[in-house]
Amino acid sequence: MHYSGFRIFKEALTGHKGWGPAWRNPEPKPEYDFVIIGGGGHGLATAYYLAKEYSQSRIAVLEKGWIGGGNVGRNTTIVRSNYLLAGNEPFYEYSMKLWEGLEQDFNYNAMVSQRGILNLFHSDPQRDSFIRRGNAMLLHGADAEILDQAAVRKMYPFLNFDNARFPIKGGLLQKRAGTVRHDAVAWGYARGADLRGVDIIQNCEVTGFSIENGKVSGVETTRGKIAAKKVGCAVAGSSGRLMAKAGMRLPIESHVLQAFVSEGLKPTISGVITFGAGHFYVSQSDKGGLVFGGDIDGYNTYAQRGNMPTVEDVCEGGMALMPMIGRARLLRSWGGVMDMSMDGSPIIDKTEVEGLYFNGGWCYGGFKATPASGMAFAHLLATDQPHQTATAFRFDRFAKGRVIDEKGVGAQPNLH
Ligand SMILES: Cc1cc2nc3c(=O)[nH]c(=O)nc-3n(C[C@H](O)[C@H](O)[C@H](O)COP(=O)(O)OP(=O)(O)OC[C@H]3O[C@@H](n4cnc5c(N)ncnc54)[C@H](O)[C@@H]3O)c2cc1C
Repeated sequence: MHYSGFRIFKEALTGHKGWGPAWRNPEPKPEYDFVIIGGGGHGLATAYYLAKEYSQSRIAVLEKGWIGGGNVGRNTTIVRSNYLLAGNEPFYEYSMKLWEGLEQDFNYNAMVSQRGILNLFHSDPQRDSFIRRGNAMLLHGADAEILDQAAVRKMYPFLNFDNARFPIKGGLLQKRAGTVRHDAVAWGYARGADLRGVDIIQNCEVTGFSIENGKVSGVETTRGKIAAKKVGCAVAGSSGRLMAKAGMRLPIESHVLQAFVSEGLKPTISGVITFGAGHFYVSQSDKGGLVFGGDIDGYNTYAQRGNMPTVEDVCEGGMALMPMIGRARLLRSWGGVMDMSMDGSPIIDKTEVEGLYFNGGWCYGGFKATPASGMAFAHLLATDQPHQTATAFRFDRFAKGRVIDEKGVGAQPNLH
């Protein structure tokens, strides 16, 4: 069924009886050409592009829970391509371009909203480093503007410009960045993949791999064995646990990241704002809630809930930036498990096992990467060659010392 304004009009006149489920609920088949493990954004996008762009069939996505229950439905919805390093920026800018056409492409309203992101700077050296980042973005075809204090004051007059410790001196603005309704992305890709024949199998946990003579021939699941010619793993925060079942130890740690939503307020913040003197980022949802977050909790865990010291730290960042946030009540908060790589950048690569492929290490920036990651992983699975925008995202960069250390903090996943 094609979704359109005409369709909504027709259904309104006929009592909305014609809407069907957005995707099927098939039983797993004994064998597929491609099995994708993980029904998050990345796994679903991979299956969608495998079918649509690479004309592959006999594809299954195996999800241990339900579609949208992982990080794809837990993030703070920010999409942007304001990276500095050559390994990252072309990839994230490619992702931005895919976001810009995504709703038309998969025929689903994902509420892509290019409302802009403003990264504030609070000192002269920080201005210099943001100018450098802006120039790198422009050189890779992205948009970037440096705003002085007066321009920022015009946009957001309520910010705490004269904070004695962290005066706001200006900001780096990317107008094409913004927010996308996170779970609608999972649903849109699921529906698009299903329409092209992909079997999306929920409540199906992968518990092991069938590997013989260094080659994978399928997976063991809670719903029986499934044979596959190629297996792609895209399980984000569960990467370490899953790949251990194939005998691999990854350069990845799992950490919890929390998100927060305030009660609904009148329209206050038109775009996304990030505080440059601590870790705090905020936007306002279309329902009116302020959606915000900050640092990871800083210890290894697979729990999808965080702790009070980080709640306090995030709220302190918010208060330093916009004191009026202290009068809003917190409505809800939750956590998600992050696959933090050793240099803060992702991995999309073959593994040492023939036919077994890996996608992960997204840290807390993987939502914005969803379209490009899906396309790049589909390309790798279909052609056995890295996608042109993802040639740097290889395992061997750690052995060869070619790390993509975007934050410049070294092998410290708790600081990325
Ligand atoms: C609080 C928070 C805020 C964030 N904010 C942003 C942001 O603003 N912008 C941004 O770009 N990124 C953000 N991120 C990061 C982003 O959400 C993730 O990097 C991205 O969603 C990870 O990819 P995914 O969607 O495929 O993961 P997931 O949705 O987690 O998908 C992985 C799936 O694999 C399944 N799975 C695990 N093990 C198995 C198994 N053995 N068998 C079968 N299935 C399995 C899981 O159930 C899960 O559904 C945030 C994350 C969090 C937690």
